Amino acid sequence: MQYSEIMIRYGELSTKGKNRMRFINKLRNNISDILSIYPQVKVTADRDRAHVYLNGADYIAVAESLKQVFGIQTFSPAYKVEKSVATLKATVQEIMQDIYKEGMTFKISSRRSDHSFELDSRELNQALGGAVFDVIPTIQAQMKNPDITLQVEIREEAAYLSYETIRGAGGLPVGTSGKGMLMLSGGIDSPVAGYLALKRGVDIEAVHFASPPYTSPGALKKAQDLTRKLTKFGGNIQFIEVPFTEIQEEIKAIAPEAYLMTLTRRFMMRITDRIREARKGLIIINGESLGQVASQTLESMQAINAVTNTPIIRPVVTMDKLEIIDIAQEIDTFEISIQPFEDCCTIFAPDRPKTNPKIKNAEQYEARMDVEGLVERAVAGIMITEITPQAEKDAVDELIEDIL
Ligand code: ATP
Ligand code: MG
Repeated sequence: MQYSEIMIRYGELSTKGKNRMRFINKLRNNISDILSIYPQVKVTADRDRAHVYLNGADYIAVAESLKQVFGIQTFSPAYKVEKSVATLKATVQEIMQDIYKEGMTFKISSRRSDHSFELDSRELNQALGGAVFDVIPTIQAQMKNPDITLQVEIREEAAYLSYETIRGAGGLPVGTSGKGMLMLSGGIDSPVAGYLALKRGVDIEAVHFASPPYTSPGALKKAQDLTRKLTKFGGNIQFIEVPFTEIQEEIKAIAPEAYLMTLTRRFMMRITDRIREARKGLIIINGESLGQVASQTLESMQAINAVTNTPIIRPVVTMDKLEIIDIAQEIDTFEISIQPFEDCCTIFAPDRPKTNPKIKNAEQYEARMDVEGLVERAVAGIMITEITPQAEKDAVDELIEDIL
């Protein structure tokens, strides 16, 4: 038998009161986006379940994609059968004979949304349980924690049977918390920060600062590749490249070595905030981790943060590097992040940046520059491209082809 659909149980959104339908619609759209790489698949959603109709698509591949979608608690692949007691009995017998192993316990768990069906759920449990005993006489029924729970759902159009429950990604549907700008370098930390923001329902746009010719096309591609990886969790992501060369040269010409990093970061923050405002984002997300490098002391954070009142979310701020790397490996960004392309900060970074910069000093150096003009020109020069899950699929397919 072939699975015909995957039934999806919602996560935390079940507790969200009157926002429920908004959450559900968002989740349905996210599932559709992420599964758009399988054109024959159809997705529907009602108050307590979503359904992915496979229409012949490969169940294993679709299930793998679904495991990445935030807002899903669990899901079960299901067989669709005709809504008659005789067919149900025969199907239940076939499934049980297939999966039963010596000593296993079972229960049938029926529910019906079609109340005109000839048996109610209790009667159906009995009838189908009896059918199982007919073919496996030694099997034990058990109500609490049985080895096999065979779920039967009687709906308007058909009946659905499932026995497997697969754990989803949890979290909240991406977009239900609003939009944030992810400051995405090519490093290990910021993609992980982006992933964690997506997990709590934040829709992200990636902002990347590039300083050609000091930074190579490889560094830019790395940031785009990382964004592509994140589309598996968030659907389409806008990738925003900011021209940063003029600003870096200007800072280098005007400020002492020790303040290059602080000033660079303050400009990045201002520009990201300007882009956020124009694109109706609510927050900024970055990959800062406390104490990891000079730019990430509390004093540095203060000096950098001082240019804006916008909330800045730092999902990895309290994590150790190894904890961050674990997540990077899990979400498949690590191998890209460790490719050896220097980003703009590495190239202009002084050997010994100040670990306790003063806001007053930073402001003094900036007074010698046309801050507003520099920011405006950078914002005017941004290039936006949309990165899609299809791009990620193509990249993976290409890789597989190369290997074969
Ligand atoms: P990452 O691993 O994310 O690069 P990091 O440990 O190298 O972080 P820093 O280089 O101090 O730390 O950068 C701190 C944060 O500043 C990054 O996590 C990222 O959010 C942001 N950032 C740094 N460089 C860039 C860049 N070129 N474009 C966009 N954001 C950047
Ligand atoms: Mg970095």
